[in-house]
Amino acid sequence: MLEIAALEKPAGVTCRHSTGTACGIYPARPSACAQWDCLWLKIPALPDRLRPDRSGVLFSLDLRAPEAGSVEGACIVGRVVGRTRPEQERSIAAAFAMFVREGSLPVWQVDGRYATRLHPGGEGTARG
Ligand code: SF4
Repeated sequence: MLEIAALEKPAGVTCRHSTGTACGIYPARPSACAQWDCLWLKIPALPDRLRPDRSGVLFSLDLRAPEAGSVEGACIVGRVVGRTRPEQERSIAAAFAMFVREGSLPVWQVDGRYATRLHPGGEGTARG
């Protein structure tokens, strides 16, 4: 659940237009929504089972680390957006490991209000 300035929606809060399974204003959604793609759509190496509605984790390229007071800077964020089934956990861990191995950007894992930095420098935890 990302920040959408046009809707005054902060990160981590469900959009008021969400039906729970889709966008309730899809034809008229803000351009920020229409132009945005998650990393599952951008990276062919990520398998079908990691589609966010199947895996429960949304990987995105964010412009600000998910911690209070962070300055602008690109990073990879894997955000829990739904229920993660046990059979998905290995795929999700492999995706995080792939981003950490690639190593060019910081990698964060976000679950609710808690953000854990996986790269660089091992784990750091912050409340977003
Ligand atoms: S796509 Fe629709 S539901 Fe999702 S954030 Fe944009 S307006 Fe809200």
